Amino acid sequence: MKYLDEFSDPDLARRLLDQIHAATTRPWAMMEVCGGQTHSIIRHGIDQLLPEGVEMIHGPGCPVCVTPLEVIDKALAIAARPGVIFCSFGDMLRVPGSGQDLFGVKSAGGDVRVVYSPLDALKLAREHPDREVVFFGIGFETTAPANAMTVYQARRLGTGNFSLLVSHVLVPPAIAAIMESPRCRVQAFLAAGHVCSVMGTAEYPPLASRYRVPIVVTGFEPLDILEGIRRTVLQLEAGRYEVENAYPRAVRDEGNVPAREMLLDVFEVTDRTWRGIGEIPRSGWRLSDRYAEFDAERRFAVTGIHTGESPLCRSGEVLRGLIKPHECAAFGKRCTPRNPLGATMVSAEGACAAYHAYRRLELADAR
Ligand code: SF4
Repeated sequence: MKYLDEFSDPDLARRLLDQIHAATTRPWAMMEVCGGQTHSIIRHGIDQLLPEGVEMIHGPGCPVCVTPLEVIDKALAIAARPGVIFCSFGDMLRVPGSGQDLFGVKSAGGDVRVVYSPLDALKLAREHPDREVVFFGIGFETTAPANAMTVYQARRLGTGNFSLLVSHVLVPPAIAAIMESPRCRVQAFLAAGHVCSVMGTAEYPPLASRYRVPIVVTGFEPLDILEGIRRTVLQLEAGRYEVENAYPRAVRDEGNVPAREMLLDVFEVTDRTWRGIGEIPRSGWRLSDRYAEFDAERRFAVTGIHTGESPLCRSGEVLRGLIKPHECAAFGKRCTPRNPLGATMVSAEGACAAYHAYRRLELADAR
């Protein structure tokens, strides 16, 4: 399959690994920001093939995992209201809120629907003018353009019964927050190619020079990741801290200019709380005042939210790279993909789910 098979070629992977081993003279710790990259690394065992002491720290780049508990609870409250059709991508339905999840609301009679695009939700709104249709718009810079376009279309079409519950988060402020953390061990970053395909690379050089960390933009297939690691190790060994684009087939320096213009029109930067991490200044998007009429939070004025995480869940430490998932006592026991205690076990991109899917038996034995 084009763009998959040729980026999983075992001979090329071995060659890249040989180069990484030859270049490495001491331990290094690098963080892959994106949950998709985490899954690929664990699935293909890439971290186990690296030279001893070269550690992959799994970052907070799973959008489902970092959506704040308060927003999940707001989604639950809105979805339970009569007259509301609440639309979401499927992986949000099992994310635990303080008390239940969206599946619980659905089984109690709420009209919760899985859609594959925010435009599906807009279509539903046009088909049901007597109902309020809400789309749960979460994610990084990657999913934001489609949500922005949907709000733009809702206004253009005069679809007043559509609204967006927004909780978008941004990668560069998260990198800054990680580097500012007193317990930070990260010496380099693999940046997420899909984020950069939208936003370009211009936000990263100031971060690389301020924190003296190499940042290599890369993709999600095994060879993409190995090439990203190879370039990162070469920079670390040489004492360089530059931004490199190892994913040129998808990423241009300027990103996707029309998408960025749409984002600038529809959203504005805001402080955002990340689940398990806390508030990061100017790390999210909300609907701008120009589109406030489509903001579900304003429309439904949900109040009285009192959040409470499972006391067993250590996903905050997982998301900050301070522990690996199997170091949580609940991993694979009280917490499984079927009965997740935290968001990092729910999402296909969550580090706990990745470890459970691909490392379950060996880690259970090792504990
Ligand atoms: S294994 Fe479960 S309880 Fe432990 S940190 Fe991960 S999501 Fe939380």
